[in-house]
Amino acid sequence: MTAWQDLDATAWRERASSEPGALREGIESALASIQAHEPGLQAFHTVLAPEARARAEQLAYDLAAGVPPGPLFGVPVALKSNFCLEGTESNCGSRFLEGYRAPYTATAVQRLLDAGAIVVGMTHMDEFAMGSSGENSAFATSRNPWDPTRTPGGSSGGSAVAVASRMVPLALGSDTGGSVRQPAAFCGVYGLKPSYGRVSRHGLVAFGSSLDVVAPLARSVRDLELAMEVLSGEDPLDSTCHPLAPLQPERPAEVARLSRLRIGVSRDYFEAVADSEVEARCRAALAELEKMGAELVDVSLPHTPYAIPTYYVVATAEASSNLARFDGVAFGRRVEGDGTLQGMFAASRSAGFGSEVKRRILLGTYVLSAGYQDQWYGRAQRVRTLLRRDFEAAFAEVDLVVGPTTPTTAFELGERHGDPLAMYQSDLLTVPSSLAGLPALSVPVGFAQGERALPVGLQLIGPALSDARLLRVAAALEAVTGHARERAPLAAGSAT
Ligand code: GLN
Repeated sequence: MTAWQDLDATAWRERASSEPGALREGIESALASIQAHEPGLQAFHTVLAPEARARAEQLAYDLAAGVPPGPLFGVPVALKSNFCLEGTESNCGSRFLEGYRAPYTATAVQRLLDAGAIVVGMTHMDEFAMGSSGENSAFATSRNPWDPTRTPGGSSGGSAVAVASRMVPLALGSDTGGSVRQPAAFCGVYGLKPSYGRVSRHGLVAFGSSLDVVAPLARSVRDLELAMEVLSGEDPLDSTCHPLAPLQPERPAEVARLSRLRIGVSRDYFEAVADSEVEARCRAALAELEKMGAELVDVSLPHTPYAIPTYYVVATAEASSNLARFDGVAFGRRVEGDGTLQGMFAASRSAGFGSEVKRRILLGTYVLSAGYQDQWYGRAQRVRTLLRRDFEAAFAEVDLVVGPTTPTTAFELGERHGDPLAMYQSDLLTVPSSLAGLPALSVPVGFAQGERALPVGLQLIGPALSDARLLRVAAALEAVTGHARERAPLAAGSAT
């Protein structure tokens, strides 16, 4: 019989709901693989073993009593540490919130729980989701299961590692400028940034409110579809959430047929690629899509070179405002300082925040300051409109736009940590669709063969609210490639 670790969430649910004993066995097996692989990979800040066992007991009881199993029944899930789960430490990878326990549960998390999922732990992340390598975590840096000397990406690195190493089949991350797609690409799994507003952000600690989205990671496309069916839909607690019904996957009959689909191949994204193997794997995947009947069309997104500076003005401005609430009064750490109120604010923030967070608060405060706001923030918003228009022009011609998710494969830990600008450049191909609010999906398309095989991701970007279309195309590719099924050297499960 297939090991639990080798099952995706859909198959896991099927086995777990067959009888109460199977559900318990599955959870024990997930906890055992976390225990065995955690020392080498450091995916989790907190493992919720007693809580997961208690919940498994409850679910087993319900199953025995005849309660119909939910769509994620018994499936172990990992949450990035910026999601609120009542009573659990949600520290955002920051000393500021070390020991802070959430007083309520995020809508997205509640929907997973209502579907029968079991939260097994909270994952490591870059502090307040600011980073691309996991190295900005105040607690630990997660490692890539394909090569532990390399980054798994960031800021949702811990969640990507938990899925890629088969500790869990499904995890939540958040994506503001690429934080789920880039780790998905570096770790060889699927990562979907849904359309802005498709999933409620209530209970996700805010970074850049006009950019943040709740984003799932999985090893199969059907799991992402399942996750989106559960997660998406209207929420009265988030006024930016679309008043739409949950996502409906497009039917399997449509999956096999891509004829008539026009795919725009972004010239600008391919030009930005610094690694010929990344380009080769992406082009090979495009050739597969062509064989299935899709038409490949060359498209240009001419404002792409301005995306990074625009993103780092908009995101830091919003972050400086969102992080103003961390002042030592209502949340987390308090340091008394010189005894004055201002002194307490300053001392708490100085002690609680790491250097990248401070850098962004300074930058964000500057670009919003009187006299400079129009020059910086206002101008960035105008360039953001130009970036959005690039996509609109492309979507007048094609159904989706594709390009690599990242310019390189996973880089070495330490390689960019001291150089913020080099680190920011790794987001070059993910921030444009974030600024435009569009859905984007990173699909594993093979491996760059160096000393060790390193995963490569292809990014599919669609018009707003075309999430189901992206998943359909990804499913068609998965049917002929299936790279997410390949086992990383440091993964749990059966080595085949
Ligand atoms: N790496 C980008 C940043 O540091 C994106 C982060 C994210 O998507 N949360 O801002």
